[in-house]
Amino acid sequence: MALKVKLLQYTPEPEKLISAAAKLCYSSSGVDDIMENLTEEGVEKFLNMLMSFGHQSPIEHVSFTFGVEGVSRSLTHQLVRHRLASYSQQSQRYVKLEQFEYIIPPAIENDEVAKELFIKSMEESQKSYDEIVHRLKLKYIENGMKEKAAEKKAIEDARYVFPNACETKIVFTMNARTLLNFFHHRCCDRAQWEIREMANEMVKQVKEVAPILFKAAGPSCVAGPCPEGAMCCGKVQEMRELYLKNKL
Ligand SMILES: Cc1cc2nc3c(=O)[nH]c(=O)nc-3n(C[C@H](O)[C@H](O)[C@H](O)COP(=O)(O)OP(=O)(O)OC[C@H]3O[C@@H](n4cnc5c(N)ncnc54)[C@H](O)[C@@H]3O)c2cc1C
Repeated sequence: MALKVKLLQYTPEPEKLISAAAKLCYSSSGVDDIMENLTEEGVEKFLNMLMSFGHQSPIEHVSFTFGVEGVSRSLTHQLVRHRLASYSQQSQRYVKLEQFEYIIPPAIENDEVAKELFIKSMEESQKSYDEIVHRLKLKYIENGMKEKAAEKKAIEDARYVFPNACETKIVFTMNARTLLNFFHHRCCDRAQWEIREMANEMVKQVKEVAPILFKAAGPSCVAGPCPEGAMCCGKVQEMRELYLKNKL
């Protein structure tokens, strides 16, 4: 299955809510008054000012939930390193994989011999999994377990043979501050191709619903200097063109 990234839900009127929350810090008015009196131009002006100060705590009030399919366990392992987020991932413990799907990295896809080796290894994993499930299940049934419980217990250990390439599905929620930090790391040229592809798709979708908030979303070098030092890719101008001018 190809990569599928979908913005499932987000806080309604995210930019207005952030402006109202931030405005409250400096205003003698009540929340209702502030919400009622915020115009579109006011929101844009205030949000631009807020972002230029780097005053980021008000942007934590809005969250974005994504559903992602067609990615590898390598990707989700990198994704869940972002601690300030919430995740729900398809379990290999509870879902028996009759024929597991896998992600083939493009460099392997484009090399005939590498691809053959890769696929062979995937097939061997599946074969070992099936055999281990079968053996353990029989043993557990012999020891008095019911068939369903025996299978569940068998698959939770058999899954250890599965590779990082194994395809998975995940739903996750990040607030806007976490998202910007996520984009800084994962849209960067140094991030791996798969998570970068997903992050770029996320950038496109959040820009559609909150264009001011995510105006400079992308790798760190889009909004400021590159933090990578000697590892800098040297493509700062190209990156700015790509992300600031929505050419992704
Ligand atoms: C190109 C690349 C290569 C990488 N290579 C490796 C690697 O080889 N090995 C490896 O282990 N990881 C690696 N990582 C993962 C990386 O180190 C981070 O774990 C990951 O990017 C999550 O970033 P984060 O901590 O900023 O995000 P989050 O966990 O979402 O945290 C967001 C921010 O909150 C603050 N914060 C969160 N938790 C704490 C805390 N406990 N104490 C203080 N402040 C906190 C920090 O300011 C942090 O930036 C790599 C990442 C990238 C992009």
